[in-house]
Amino acid sequence: MDVLQVQGLCKSYDKFALRDVTFSVPEGCIAGFIGANGAGKTTTLRSVLGLARPSAGRIRLFGMDAEKNEKEIKDRIGVVFDDGQFYTELTLKEMKNVLSPAYSSWSEQDFSRWMDRFELSQRQKISSLSRGMRMKFALALALSHKAEFLLMDEPTSGLDPQIRNEFLDVLAGYMEHGGRGVLFSTHITSDLDKVADTLIMIDRGRIVFQEDKDVLMESYRSVRGDTAALNEEIRPLFMKITEGSFGFTGITKEAERVRRLMPGALIEKVSVEDIMLANLGKEAPQPVCGHGQEEKEETIYD
Ligand code: ATP
Repeated sequence: MDVLQVQGLCKSYDKFALRDVTFSVPEGCIAGFIGANGAGKTTTLRSVLGLARPSAGRIRLFGMDAEKNEKEIKDRIGVVFDDGQFYTELTLKEMKNVLSPAYSSWSEQDFSRWMDRFELSQRQKISSLSRGMRMKFALALALSHKAEFLLMDEPTSGLDPQIRNEFLDVLAGYMEHGGRGVLFSTHITSDLDKVADTLIMIDRGRIVFQEDKDVLMESYRSVRGDTAALNEEIRPLFMKITEGSFGFTGITKEAERVRRLMPGALIEKVSVEDIMLANLGKEAPQPVCGHGQEEKEETIYD
């Protein structure tokens, strides 16, 4: 079963539009949501949460329509966003006391355990937290009400490598309990090398692919070789080529043909970042979907 299904999502701003955004997060899966700055990741995640109002499309969580079952769905998901979701003048305990009554399965025991693990003091003021500490606090809250789905926007950005690793361990532990799912957006693609099962890429408001990470990593190869060997037959085999004084580096999905045509080339595995860079700007223009109207910024819904 899919924990999250997004189908045909459209949303227009003055200078940007999400177009026919469709993807899903299956149960038992950590999905990494990748894309360049301004590609539409946050807008998509805000739409899933009902914070941005799409002009078209359908969002289902746990098999239920997101709009019609908002209360039950919000009870079952944990959200980690980096958009000042806390009142900075409160202590962590006071903030927790504001938020926890909204959850039917809130566990004080779990919360205390996570606060200890993250070395956070409940007496501390939100305003005194570093960015990393704020993300840990958000994660502690998200993990203390038996959430079955975690939705996170750039949870690791700005965290030091040690905290990032700890965060990835927490995610892996969270998934040991069956029937759960995670969707998180990130620029730090090495995080996805470590934990993601599936990758969803968005570029300029359109989904480029959703694919099992291992399948993706096997489909692409990085090639290094002599620029002089890049003839008209070989060039089109590459999605991206970077040429320098010491030769070229290219990303291809046709490694076998390249191997035959360029026996001297060095062919290696790729990283998630290589795959993302190779796919930037590849989508063909499509018509605007939905009503096509453009919306101006609003305060609550945008
Ligand atoms: P980043 O990785 O930089 O956070 P992103 O992929 O999350 O980027 P979004 O935040 O979804 O991208 O923004 C996509 C585009 O939509 C941007 O061009 C942004 O300026 C525009 N946008 C987002 N929110 C609004 C808004 N409320 N009003 C007008 N334009 C908006």
